Amino acid sequence: MSPFDLGPKPRLGYTADPVERLSERRSDAEFLAELAGRGDAGAYVVCGDLVVLRQGQAGNDPLFALTQAQGLAPVRETVFLGTVGGAGRFGIAIDAGEIEALKAKTDLLLTDLRSIAVQGLVETQHLSALAEAKAVLHWHARHRFCANCGALTRTVQGGWRRDCPACAAQHFPRTDPVVIMLAIDGERCLLGRQSRFAKGMWSCLAGFVEPGETIEDAVRRETLEEAGIVCGRVAYFASQPWPFPMSLMIGCHAQALTTELKVDRSELEDARWFARDEVAAMVLRKHPDGLTATHPFAIAHHIIRAWLESDQSFF
Ligand SMILES: [Zn+2]
Repeated sequence: MSPFDLGPKPRLGYTADPVERLSERRSDAEFLAELAGRGDAGAYVVCGDLVVLRQGQAGNDPLFALTQAQGLAPVRETVFLGTVGGAGRFGIAIDAGEIEALKAKTDLLLTDLRSIAVQGLVETQHLSALAEAKAVLHWHARHRFCANCGALTRTVQGGWRRDCPACAAQHFPRTDPVVIMLAIDGERCLLGRQSRFAKGMWSCLAGFVEPGETIEDAVRRETLEEAGIVCGRVAYFASQPWPFPMSLMIGCHAQALTTELKVDRSELEDARWFARDEVAAMVLRKHPDGLTATHPFAIAHHIIRAWLESDQSFF
């Protein structure tokens, strides 16, 4: 029995994925061409850092017919995302120079993927495919040249590899692992604030995993760096694709071994310990000072909630 009634569990953003990636078919150009030629082929469209949505009576639709997507503006890159019910799904990057012209069209809405998720601008079934498209198209836009020899590379494997014609190097889309953790000291947890956060909002600490480092060590290092807290045991909770621009958030709980804070002000505006009932009030948006915990679509909310809802000590 949870000590707090926090209501129904919200869905973790970007994770309800109906797309079958069919990664084993990416090298089958004939298969991809056949999918693309069918009337049910659909595409998600990215223009610069924005996603293009079609505005309609029933709400916003991010899924265009493939031919319609190709007609919006010159296509810079196409990736095969997979299939839904046998129908092909593609991600398309169109010429970013067309942003203003497209914004002027009353039937289109160009906005960023974070706003789409936070404001619930599209049906949740599209969020995972949008994250997939946005992240891999971002990688293409910034990795056009061979990191080994500098030659212009070409897209192969349905958009999941770039090959160098000069030195034969193969380049694959990256995902950057980020640890995001809640340090726990008995009935208290450690939350931090970045200056860019909305007023009154607190969240878990987070940081990139470095080369040659385990997830556990990254959790300990980042918590020590940012807040001066030494952590012992680390327990994995869950992960979340985070297409800003192309990360994987790895959610953990960590056992705090020390309690004296030393906040790195270059990383955080503030960090402090919060009692369990205070955090519950933040999650429920009933805190007397208007403090809140991060938005339910982000994994930090779920990491915090799992601790609140646990009826036994985590460590
Ligand atoms: Zn090369």
